[in-house]
Amino acid sequence: MAMTHIPIVRPVFPALERFSSRFAAALEFGQVTNQGRWVLEFERELTDFLGVPTLAFCNGQSALMAMLAAAGVRGGEVIVPSFTFPATPAAVVWAGAKPVFAEIRPDTLTLDATSVSEKLIRTAATAVLAVDPYGICADYKALAKLCWTNGAKFLVDSCAAFGSRVEGKFCAIADVQVFSFHATKSFSTMEGGALCSRDPEILERAARIRNFGQERITGEVVEPGINGKMTEVAALVGLAGIQDWRETRAPARQNRALALATALRGIPGLTVVPAPLGQEPLWLYRPVLIDPDKFGTDRDAVYNGLRERGIGARKYYGACHRTPAFRTYPAIHLPNTERIADQVIALPAHESLTDDDIAYIVLAFRDMQRGL
Ligand SMILES: *Cc1c(COP(=O)(O)O)cnc(C)c1O
Repeated sequence: MAMTHIPIVRPVFPALERFSSRFAAALEFGQVTNQGRWVLEFERELTDFLGVPTLAFCNGQSALMAMLAAAGVRGGEVIVPSFTFPATPAAVVWAGAKPVFAEIRPDTLTLDATSVSEKLIRTAATAVLAVDPYGICADYKALAKLCWTNGAKFLVDSCAAFGSRVEGKFCAIADVQVFSFHATKSFSTMEGGALCSRDPEILERAARIRNFGQERITGEVVEPGINGKMTEVAALVGLAGIQDWRETRAPARQNRALALATALRGIPGLTVVPAPLGQEPLWLYRPVLIDPDKFGTDRDAVYNGLRERGIGARKYYGACHRTPAFRTYPAIHLPNTERIADQVIALPAHESLTDDDIAYIVLAFRDMQRGL
């Protein structure tokens, strides 16, 4: 019998012929980075798609770092969820600021506005950095309103949510928002990222920080920056792949994530995290929660069982405030975060998931529940 193997991600890239002559020309001409022709073209494409002026970056992490600095965060405190990929609080620390970990909502796994409101009152936080986990968008409206009435910047780590829509829109109501095009994400340029903002000053500053802090016209170094520039080959991969992703791959991913969620219904103790009202998430993974009392075994046993059966599940996300890297930062009373970090399993939701794969995943859960 052939071993089943359902990977957690299956990166898809455009065929080399789609961009090889442009790449060869870039190599020949020698312009392979520093805001070359194809990066500029890709930025226009992204701006058109997102509907908000957008800059390309070499990855999501550098876009996160530039976002914080461009929003004026240099020290101080920033409110973030603990339930995220460690890149989020790491960017806060690299901005010289302290992460103030806030609670998530148990239904959507995104920042809880009530918890954020409390932290805005109790701390001197100058920004809230929300996260869109698994492609689920945070409650933008409530958080933006809270931030702006409290004089804080509203920033969004959408690294996992490029292509997700809230009330039909691909962009948040935020001061700045960033995306990742890493190979594991739904749309990829191998390594890559983007930052968008409707505020021209923030955008200008982010562009400067991306290029060592140098002023665009004069070249004067006006503040410490980083090297966040995207290469031409990454932009070419993005340009060659974005149309197919928009028209075929993203809808196929939506379809597969929905088919998996539907098939997993009705298993006692297993909750499929639903799309929040008014949202069309482009699922990066499909998270499920295992209630050990009702399911019969705990998350770790279920996770091991899935892995033994060749299903590429992940214990993902975790609670950052419990990691050695971030446990020194204040994290008072985050019961939802801790419970969900102990109960969550991220399941594959990519477009190459077949109906047979889905049936196999459902059977694995049912067998484990019966102690098989
Ligand atoms: C992927 C991811 C990042 C990091 O993006 P890179 O492009 O890999 O640097 C940051 N935050 C979240 C929530 C992510 O999912």
